[in-house]
Amino acid sequence: MRAMLLTKAKPAEESPLHEADLPIPAPGPGEIRVRVRVCGVCHTDLHTVEGDLPLPKLPLVPGHQIVGVVEASGPAVHEFKEGDRVGIPWLYSTCGHCAYCAKGLENLCESARFTGYHVDGGYAEAVVVPAAFAYGIPKTFSDVEAAPLLCAGVIGYRSLRLSNAQSGERLGLYGFGASAHIVIQLARHMNCEVYVFTRSSAHRELALALGAAWAGAAQDAPPARLDSAIIFAPAGPLVPEALRVLRKGGTVALAGITMSPIPEMDYSLIYHERIIRSVANSTRQDARDLLRLAAEIPVRTEVQEFSLSEVNQALQALKHSQIRGAGVLKV
Ligand SMILES: [Zn+2]
Ligand SMILES: [Zn+2]
Repeated sequence: MRAMLLTKAKPAEESPLHEADLPIPAPGPGEIRVRVRVCGVCHTDLHTVEGDLPLPKLPLVPGHQIVGVVEASGPAVHEFKEGDRVGIPWLYSTCGHCAYCAKGLENLCESARFTGYHVDGGYAEAVVVPAAFAYGIPKTFSDVEAAPLLCAGVIGYRSLRLSNAQSGERLGLYGFGASAHIVIQLARHMNCEVYVFTRSSAHRELALALGAAWAGAAQDAPPARLDSAIIFAPAGPLVPEALRVLRKGGTVALAGITMSPIPEMDYSLIYHERIIRSVANSTRQDARDLLRLAAEIPVRTEVQEFSLSEVNQALQALKHSQIRGAGVLKV
């Protein structure tokens, strides 16, 4: 099968992924093989190919926002049958018995494995996944529309939950890429006022079109204090910026998997019970809840399409905030 393979981490500009012909993987017990139709391009993929994250496996096929069709099943698969359309996100498997799994925090599982990171992912024609970690895709969505929901959407949904934003409150979003453009629709649906901070004028325009009450740069003062905020951009200096405009007792959720160092800051910025918390991965329940909610609203994903062999260009565009909405590869 055709796949885009990473053999050595390097900057996106140096085209780290190259085309390879790999054997078609065989599903083991409890696993399904999915014929990949589309795969979304995520910031985590950029951090993976550029080596910002330690790489547990090389060579590696990245990609973890996969939409495809079940084409083969191993023994003991009851969840899906051949021909079903499924989605595969970042969370590939968990142990099911560590202290975190037992507490419903499988996103923090000690032995969690991630798609396109510990195991080969969706920048390929086929992928194998435990059936218990795949999800039916609501009919409302085409393949390309559904792909960004699987990570940008699911992580965004968890970030929104952990930001503790409540109906009628003011929510700040820092950075306006794939995840934020979905979160704004969830937040508007729960009647939040959304304030968007981004350098890109194209992203500000999209934010206002999607119902933002205000859009500006990170250093700009919004017209009112925020009840909560989510930082999507991997830039530590945004943390004090967000705290500066946050009300007492408010929460700042950090949605990224990495972030540049957070600068030293005055205690007064977090005093009055302001909370800073990171968001790590997601649970299966997050994925189920987000897909159901997205179909109900319905969320409209803005997508820029690339072919599988254009993945390096897609990652470069993502790196330079040149993608409107989310990038998706058609396999
Ligand atoms: Zn576990
Ligand atoms: Zn992702």
